[in-house]
Amino acid sequence: MSATGTVVVVGGGLAGASAVGTLRDEGFTGDVVLVGAEPHLPYERPPLSKSYLAGDSTLTEAFVHAVEFYDTRDVDLRLGSPVTALDLDTHTVHVGHETIGYDRLLLATGSAARRLPPADRSGAAVAYLRTVEDADRIRAALRPGRRVVVVGGGWIGLEVAAAARGADCDVVVVEPLAQPLLRVLGEELGHAFATLHRGHGVDLRTSTGLASVTSREPGGPAVVRLDDGTATEADLLVVGIGAVPQTDLAEAAGLAVEDGVLADEHLVTSHPDVLVAGDIARAHHPAYGTRIRVEHWDNAKAQGATAARNLLGAREAYDRLPYFFTDQYDLGMEYVGHLGPEGYDELVVRGDLAGVFTAFWLRGGRVRAAMHANDWDAIDPLRAIVTAGEVDLAALRDPRVPLGDVAS
Ligand SMILES: Cc1cc2nc3c(=O)[nH]c(=O)nc-3n(C[C@H](O)[C@H](O)[C@H](O)COP(=O)(O)OP(=O)(O)OC[C@H]3O[C@@H](n4cnc5c(N)ncnc54)[C@H](O)[C@@H]3O)c2cc1C
Repeated sequence: MSATGTVVVVGGGLAGASAVGTLRDEGFTGDVVLVGAEPHLPYERPPLSKSYLAGDSTLTEAFVHAVEFYDTRDVDLRLGSPVTALDLDTHTVHVGHETIGYDRLLLATGSAARRLPPADRSGAAVAYLRTVEDADRIRAALRPGRRVVVVGGGWIGLEVAAAARGADCDVVVVEPLAQPLLRVLGEELGHAFATLHRGHGVDLRTSTGLASVTSREPGGPAVVRLDDGTATEADLLVVGIGAVPQTDLAEAAGLAVEDGVLADEHLVTSHPDVLVAGDIARAHHPAYGTRIRVEHWDNAKAQGATAARNLLGAREAYDRLPYFFTDQYDLGMEYVGHLGPEGYDELVVRGDLAGVFTAFWLRGGRVRAAMHANDWDAIDPLRAIVTAGEVDLAALRDPRVPLGDVAS
């Protein structure tokens, strides 16, 4: 694409905001329009379940860029403006009655919280956590002695549980699998997170699902019955059972969609003038030889930048290793790699699972993923080890060998 013309970015989240910045950094002098459904400047979501939820940071601190950034780069920001339709033939996006034409389009509509219909129907006070408004609502409810039941022992559920315990709430977490985070981290690390939360006073109920949710009055406390026959009351029920990519627009426009918008390694969809980035993208990953969809901060930021360069004709393959982080109580961790549905056949742990440690997931003798807890110098060597994949396993298992020497 030439330096002129119009790029429209649909979705004012991290991926969209990252893309518009890169477009200008790369010297694009045409029109850049960012259309976002939310009324706020694009913001980062990780604080919503951590410092913001705890009342320790503000929305302004979470903005991807300050408002001057968009002004000085001449980005036409259309906030509070959900795109209602895309027309791939006429190269237009529809925002209510307005039509905006584009030469190239970036779709970055992200995900929405997966709903739990029985909880929604119960009439009880039920919350999800995706937007700043969701976080405000939960934050207002976190008062000492309040009873909070969290459905789902995934990242968001556990982070909310930690924030709620920080606010001296009584917290129950309900997780149908045998351990929290079982699908991501496996049995051993899931157990470590279970121990962490129980140690901070969370009543973690595993291997049991939700049987029913009822309420005695609309918006009032929920009576939560579990499959194991127990029941508990909640002043607030927080549902954290995953996210769903927002693909309605793409699907209605005729783009190829399958749990995400399908794309090649250049983030180009089934239409050559439409690219995708962030939570919505199921893009071919050269290192894995298959399409993957990644719902993490780092991916949204980096894919937004790669997509922007490719919108301008770069044809750069997106081959960055998936990476994410979490903070719960005094545990901070970073994880790099991708296990996929095949999982792992060996776990190597260095250090103490109750404190500072590194962990490596192997399959077929190759390191597929790695994480550290509270070992802040470890991430670069971990990345090198996962990138190498085949390393000296004796060295990996021997904690006397510095991590930095394992992949060299
Ligand atoms: C509470 C929370 C905590 C998280 N914590 C972490 C963490 O600790 N570490 C980590 O790695 N990741 C974390 N994540 C995940 C990370 O925030 C996401 O991967 C990231 O936000 C994805 O960015 P995105 O731009 O693809 O999508 P989003 O951030 O979802 O942004 C998409 C935007 O598009 C808008 N949109 C949707 N449809 C339309 C439309 N039709 N028209 C216009 N706009 C539209 C949406 O309103 C939204 O503003 C967290 C997520 C949440 C919700």
